Amino acid sequence: MQFSLDAKHEAFRQEVRSFIAEHITPEIQQRARQGGFFCNKEDQRHWVKLLAAKGWAMPSWPLEHGGCDWTPLQHYIFEEEHLRADAPGLPFALYHMIGPVIMKYASQELQDQLLKPMYNGDITFAQGFSEPGSGSDLAALSTQAVRDGDHYVVNGQKIWTSGAYESEWLFCLVKTDTKVKPQNGISFLVFPLDLPGITIRRIPQIDGDAHLCETFFSDVRVPVENLVGEEGKGWTYAKSLLDGERTGSAYIHWSKHELAKAREIAENETVNGVRIIDIPAYQARFARAEAQITALEWSVLRVLANENFKYPLTTIASSLKLRGSELQQTVSMLQWDCLGAKGLRFIPREDYGAQTVAGDPLWPAHMLGTTPNALIMRAATIYGGARQIQKNIVAKMAFGL
Ligand SMILES: Cc1cc2nc3c(=O)[nH]c(=O)nc-3n(C[C@H](O)[C@H](O)[C@H](O)COP(=O)(O)OP(=O)(O)OC[C@H]3O[C@@H](n4cnc5c(N)ncnc54)[C@H](O)[C@@H]3O)c2cc1C
Repeated sequence: MQFSLDAKHEAFRQEVRSFIAEHITPEIQQRARQGGFFCNKEDQRHWVKLLAAKGWAMPSWPLEHGGCDWTPLQHYIFEEEHLRADAPGLPFALYHMIGPVIMKYASQELQDQLLKPMYNGDITFAQGFSEPGSGSDLAALSTQAVRDGDHYVVNGQKIWTSGAYESEWLFCLVKTDTKVKPQNGISFLVFPLDLPGITIRRIPQIDGDAHLCETFFSDVRVPVENLVGEEGKGWTYAKSLLDGERTGSAYIHWSKHELAKAREIAENETVNGVRIIDIPAYQARFARAEAQITALEWSVLRVLANENFKYPLTTIASSLKLRGSELQQTVSMLQWDCLGAKGLRFIPREDYGAQTVAGDPLWPAHMLGTTPNALIMRAATIYGGARQIQKNIVAKMAFGL
């Protein structure tokens, strides 16, 4: 089902589409398609710089920090057009997570130091929350920061720090007081990842990538100026950061875009001479996925339209994340199944963008990115808050169970 846009939003869509078409290159598009869910960081940096020149680098930020004062639908269109054109992934952690926390809670000096370089694509952040013994139970984290004069001395380990090896800075939860209730002893630090005493180890993934990392701290001296807000208030800031995005974790544009790719695969692949798209069992899967994605899209639009819900916003964000991540898995598995045995081949990450596929029947362009997607999407119901945790939130806060 399609919804139509008013003239203002339609003109905006055309403006974004033209901007992207003017600046995108076939090489960037190919890397975006092959890269699957994780985009090429250099392409993203390059793209943020182009967006910065246009004034669109951080559209969701307040006007005084370079934001765009767009309607929710404009943000929606902006993101959708990027997916549609296979443009580099937008830096959502800066848009919705660490950017707003720094603006709201950090000192003026930290804001001056960090916001402009983030806007201009010179600084990216990794997120250092999870530890080997604390994921869902985040308050159990044990990385310690002990005050020593003008510094905190940090010791411990983070895990699953996505992209830490290619990021300049880390936002990090640390224990500054072990004697109080766990939530009250947590503080929020930001620091460069090249400080002495930091070791980053990439974790090999089943999809051939090593995007996830372990990050170790051994007597890392972090200046006290790098504390965000007040000591012991890190839990509050982390919660505000995690609540920062209500609809993005539905990944609706991604699922729509990837469903279209699945359809392209099904139209080009055959079994015993029959196109996959003409096989009734597959037609049923496509119809079901399309109906579920459309339903989710309307739910997202209802939230963007600020409809009055009787449930707390946290439960709505949890429901969208839950459904969205399940649909990401549905769509990526559909792509993979349509590819059959060809899906077993994949391009080593180092070779992304370097492969030529034209004219190779075993290496068709429509298979790019499908295997890494199908594999990494197994994690979609874990990262950003595991499925069972989201269900607990909905059960408790919406239904009082
Ligand atoms: C691809 C990927 C990228 C990630 N990126 C980052 C990142 O950049 N930075 C970062 O800090 N972290 C990151 N994470 C970590 C992620 O936030 C955690 O994996 C997640 O919070 C789950 O924690 P855990 O892995 O310790 O699992 P656990 O918390 O041990 O959970 C294991 C299982 O038990 C279930 N469970 C746990 N507690 C309950 C409960 N109370 N009731 C019912 N069921 C429960 C969970 O739902 C899950 O199924 C990433 C993870 C992945 C997979």
